[in-house]
Amino acid sequence: FCTFIFVFSDSPNVAMLWNYAAYFTGAYIPAFFLHFIFEVIGATNKKQFMRIVYLLSTIFAFLTLSNNFISGLTPYPPNYLFMPIPGALYGIFVAYFNLIVMIAFISLFIAYIKTTGIKRNQYLYLLVASIIGFSGTNDFFLTVYQSSIRLPFSHDWLISAYTAIFAYAVVQHRLMDIEVVIKKGIIYSTLMAAIIGVYSFLILLGQILFQNTLGINQWVSTVVTAFAIAVGFKPLEGFITEITNEYFFKKKVNFQNTLKKSSEALSLLTDIDRLIRLSTRILARDMFLEEASALIYEEAGHRYVVKAVAGKSKDLIGLALSDNHELFKHLFAAKRILLRDEIKHTLENKMILPEERKRLNAIKKEMEQLHAHICVPSISRGKYIGNKLVAIFCIGDKKSGDMYNNEDIQLLSTLSNQAAVAVENALMYSDLMKQFQELKETKDQLVQSEKLAALGTMAAGIAHEIRNPLTSLQLFVQMMAERFDDHEFREKFTQIVPPEIERLNRIVNDLVSFAKPSKLVREPVQINDILDKTIRLSEISFRKFNVKVVKEFTEVPKVVVDSQQMMQIFLNLIMNGSQAMPTGGTLTVKTYYHDDFNKKVCIDIKDTGVGISEETQKKLFAPFFTTKEGGTGLGLAITRRIVEEHKGEVKVRSKVGEGTTFTVELPAAI
Ligand code: ADP
Ligand code: MG
Repeated sequence: FCTFIFVFSDSPNVAMLWNYAAYFTGAYIPAFFLHFIFEVIGATNKKQFMRIVYLLSTIFAFLTLSNNFISGLTPYPPNYLFMPIPGALYGIFVAYFNLIVMIAFISLFIAYIKTTGIKRNQYLYLLVASIIGFSGTNDFFLTVYQSSIRLPFSHDWLISAYTAIFAYAVVQHRLMDIEVVIKKGIIYSTLMAAIIGVYSFLILLGQILFQNTLGINQWVSTVVTAFAIAVGFKPLEGFITEITNEYFFKKKVNFQNTLKKSSEALSLLTDIDRLIRLSTRILARDMFLEEASALIYEEAGHRYVVKAVAGKSKDLIGLALSDNHELFKHLFAAKRILLRDEIKHTLENKMILPEERKRLNAIKKEMEQLHAHICVPSISRGKYIGNKLVAIFCIGDKKSGDMYNNEDIQLLSTLSNQAAVAVENALMYSDLMKQFQELKETKDQLVQSEKLAALGTMAAGIAHEIRNPLTSLQLFVQMMAERFDDHEFREKFTQIVPPEIERLNRIVNDLVSFAKPSKLVREPVQINDILDKTIRLSEISFRKFNVKVVKEFTEVPKVVVDSQQMMQIFLNLIMNGSQAMPTGGTLTVKTYYHDDFNKKVCIDIKDTGVGISEETQKKLFAPFFTTKEGGTGLGLAITRRIVEEHKGEVKVRSKVGEGTTFTVELPAAI
């Protein structure tokens, strides 16, 4: 602007003034340009360096006012009315200017080499445009020196070309979001106008009201204005932003809202299919898309399946693609959003290798098949599922037909990260559920195998118990035909046979009810009844141990338990007790009621066996701890678990050589 007025000033004094202004501000060009480049390439660690550059630019800005910088003006027909006469400092400034610009170019060039994708294009445009632009500046410096060496194009053309290329890059390659620039422009110019308006008004008001009547200084109105600005700035900004959005950018994506809504929805869902359907819908609706779809990885088939669609692409649902498609490999490797335009653009480059061209063409075709303008990968990073491309969101055209801008892409990236976390959570959840189910099954199997082991131990005793009465029954039945008329025999028969059959029946029933796996049924029962049944079953198998069983039952309240589980634990405790008395002894089963602090029904199972050492007592309840040949080591582990599931407790008291007492305490059902 200053140069513009300088060029058109016909008086040397005015021209000189604007010349000073042009150089004073121009001294900051290298600093601003370098700063801009650092921002673009994301070099955020250059703050200290930038400070020095700004300081140097400021020093030069003041030096431009000195006579040693420009000593005067000289007429320069036919192109310009005047041209500055460079002094000694001018040369130093030119050197400084080019040095800083060079640093910016080199940084940008390095960034260009290191980056891929859309950013690479942006850097290239920026680099080309700036090289052209700054060669224009140097052409201008040469003009000032009235040098005979000149560039083939005048600086006017070169600097204009810079603007043109830059504008093209902004529009075509999303170098910058123009909408944002315009929006912020409107908002802040309105704000400025409002603040200046308020200030002027208050000053005026202050002058009229106070100064004339009270003689108060002008600073009062300044303070009042400052106060008004401090209080009013934020609400005013919000208000103007809202109005601007409402009138100029209707139907614009509401970034924050979409994010908030989707993150709420996503974090709640653990069902992966629903989660994907919902996020696809949110995407399509809030970004005003013609269509959107989502693919999920199916482990079993090694493929990606379209699980959700929104908008036009209904026919895509169920489409399955093998996971060795180039598109998936690319998304997984690149780990970022993929734009079809980007691929198309790369393909236009003649230099790419045939292999790469083939690959890119394949990706392009796959994206077209999926109606995807943009593919958003959702890659899990968790230690459960591992590093995997778990889902892909395919974004179609916008309803408005607009291009995707930076803001959209940023939103999509954030959403995809969120979706990845949510998908991972959902997968982890289902994985945990599966493991949980497996554990539960294993646990049930363990219980069952301990039962079977107990049955094995009892088998011999039981077989003996059944065979004996069967033999006598057989004899009776055989004699029956011959001695049918024998009154005495018939009498004996009816006395002995039915109770024997009854007993056999009971043994078989007890056995069956103990052995078969069953569902948990908890109901109030009299624990003494369960113990009776258990003792009956164990007695027969331990007769050979020469163990005497003593029952010391008292009337106790009912307990709410699963009878079969109770039978299992008592059988184990009784069996353990009997096995601890290989040379015989007494096994006492005692029940009693405790109603002090908490009301509980207690069952003591006491043997006069070998006892358990302190050392062994510590390991007693650990699964698979056994000292017996052929033991499972599960009996006590299962006993404790079952009792704890019933909110009870198992305790053990023992003295080596004297015997052991196991006490089961169960909450009374009162
Ligand atoms: P298992 O009976 O299959 O060995 P348990 O879990 O029922 O498994 O018992 C674990 C171990 O605890 C037994 O091997 C035994 O050493 C010890 N034990 C359990 N009950 C008694 C008891 N009444 N007297 C002595 N030792 C016992
Ligand atoms: Mg046992």
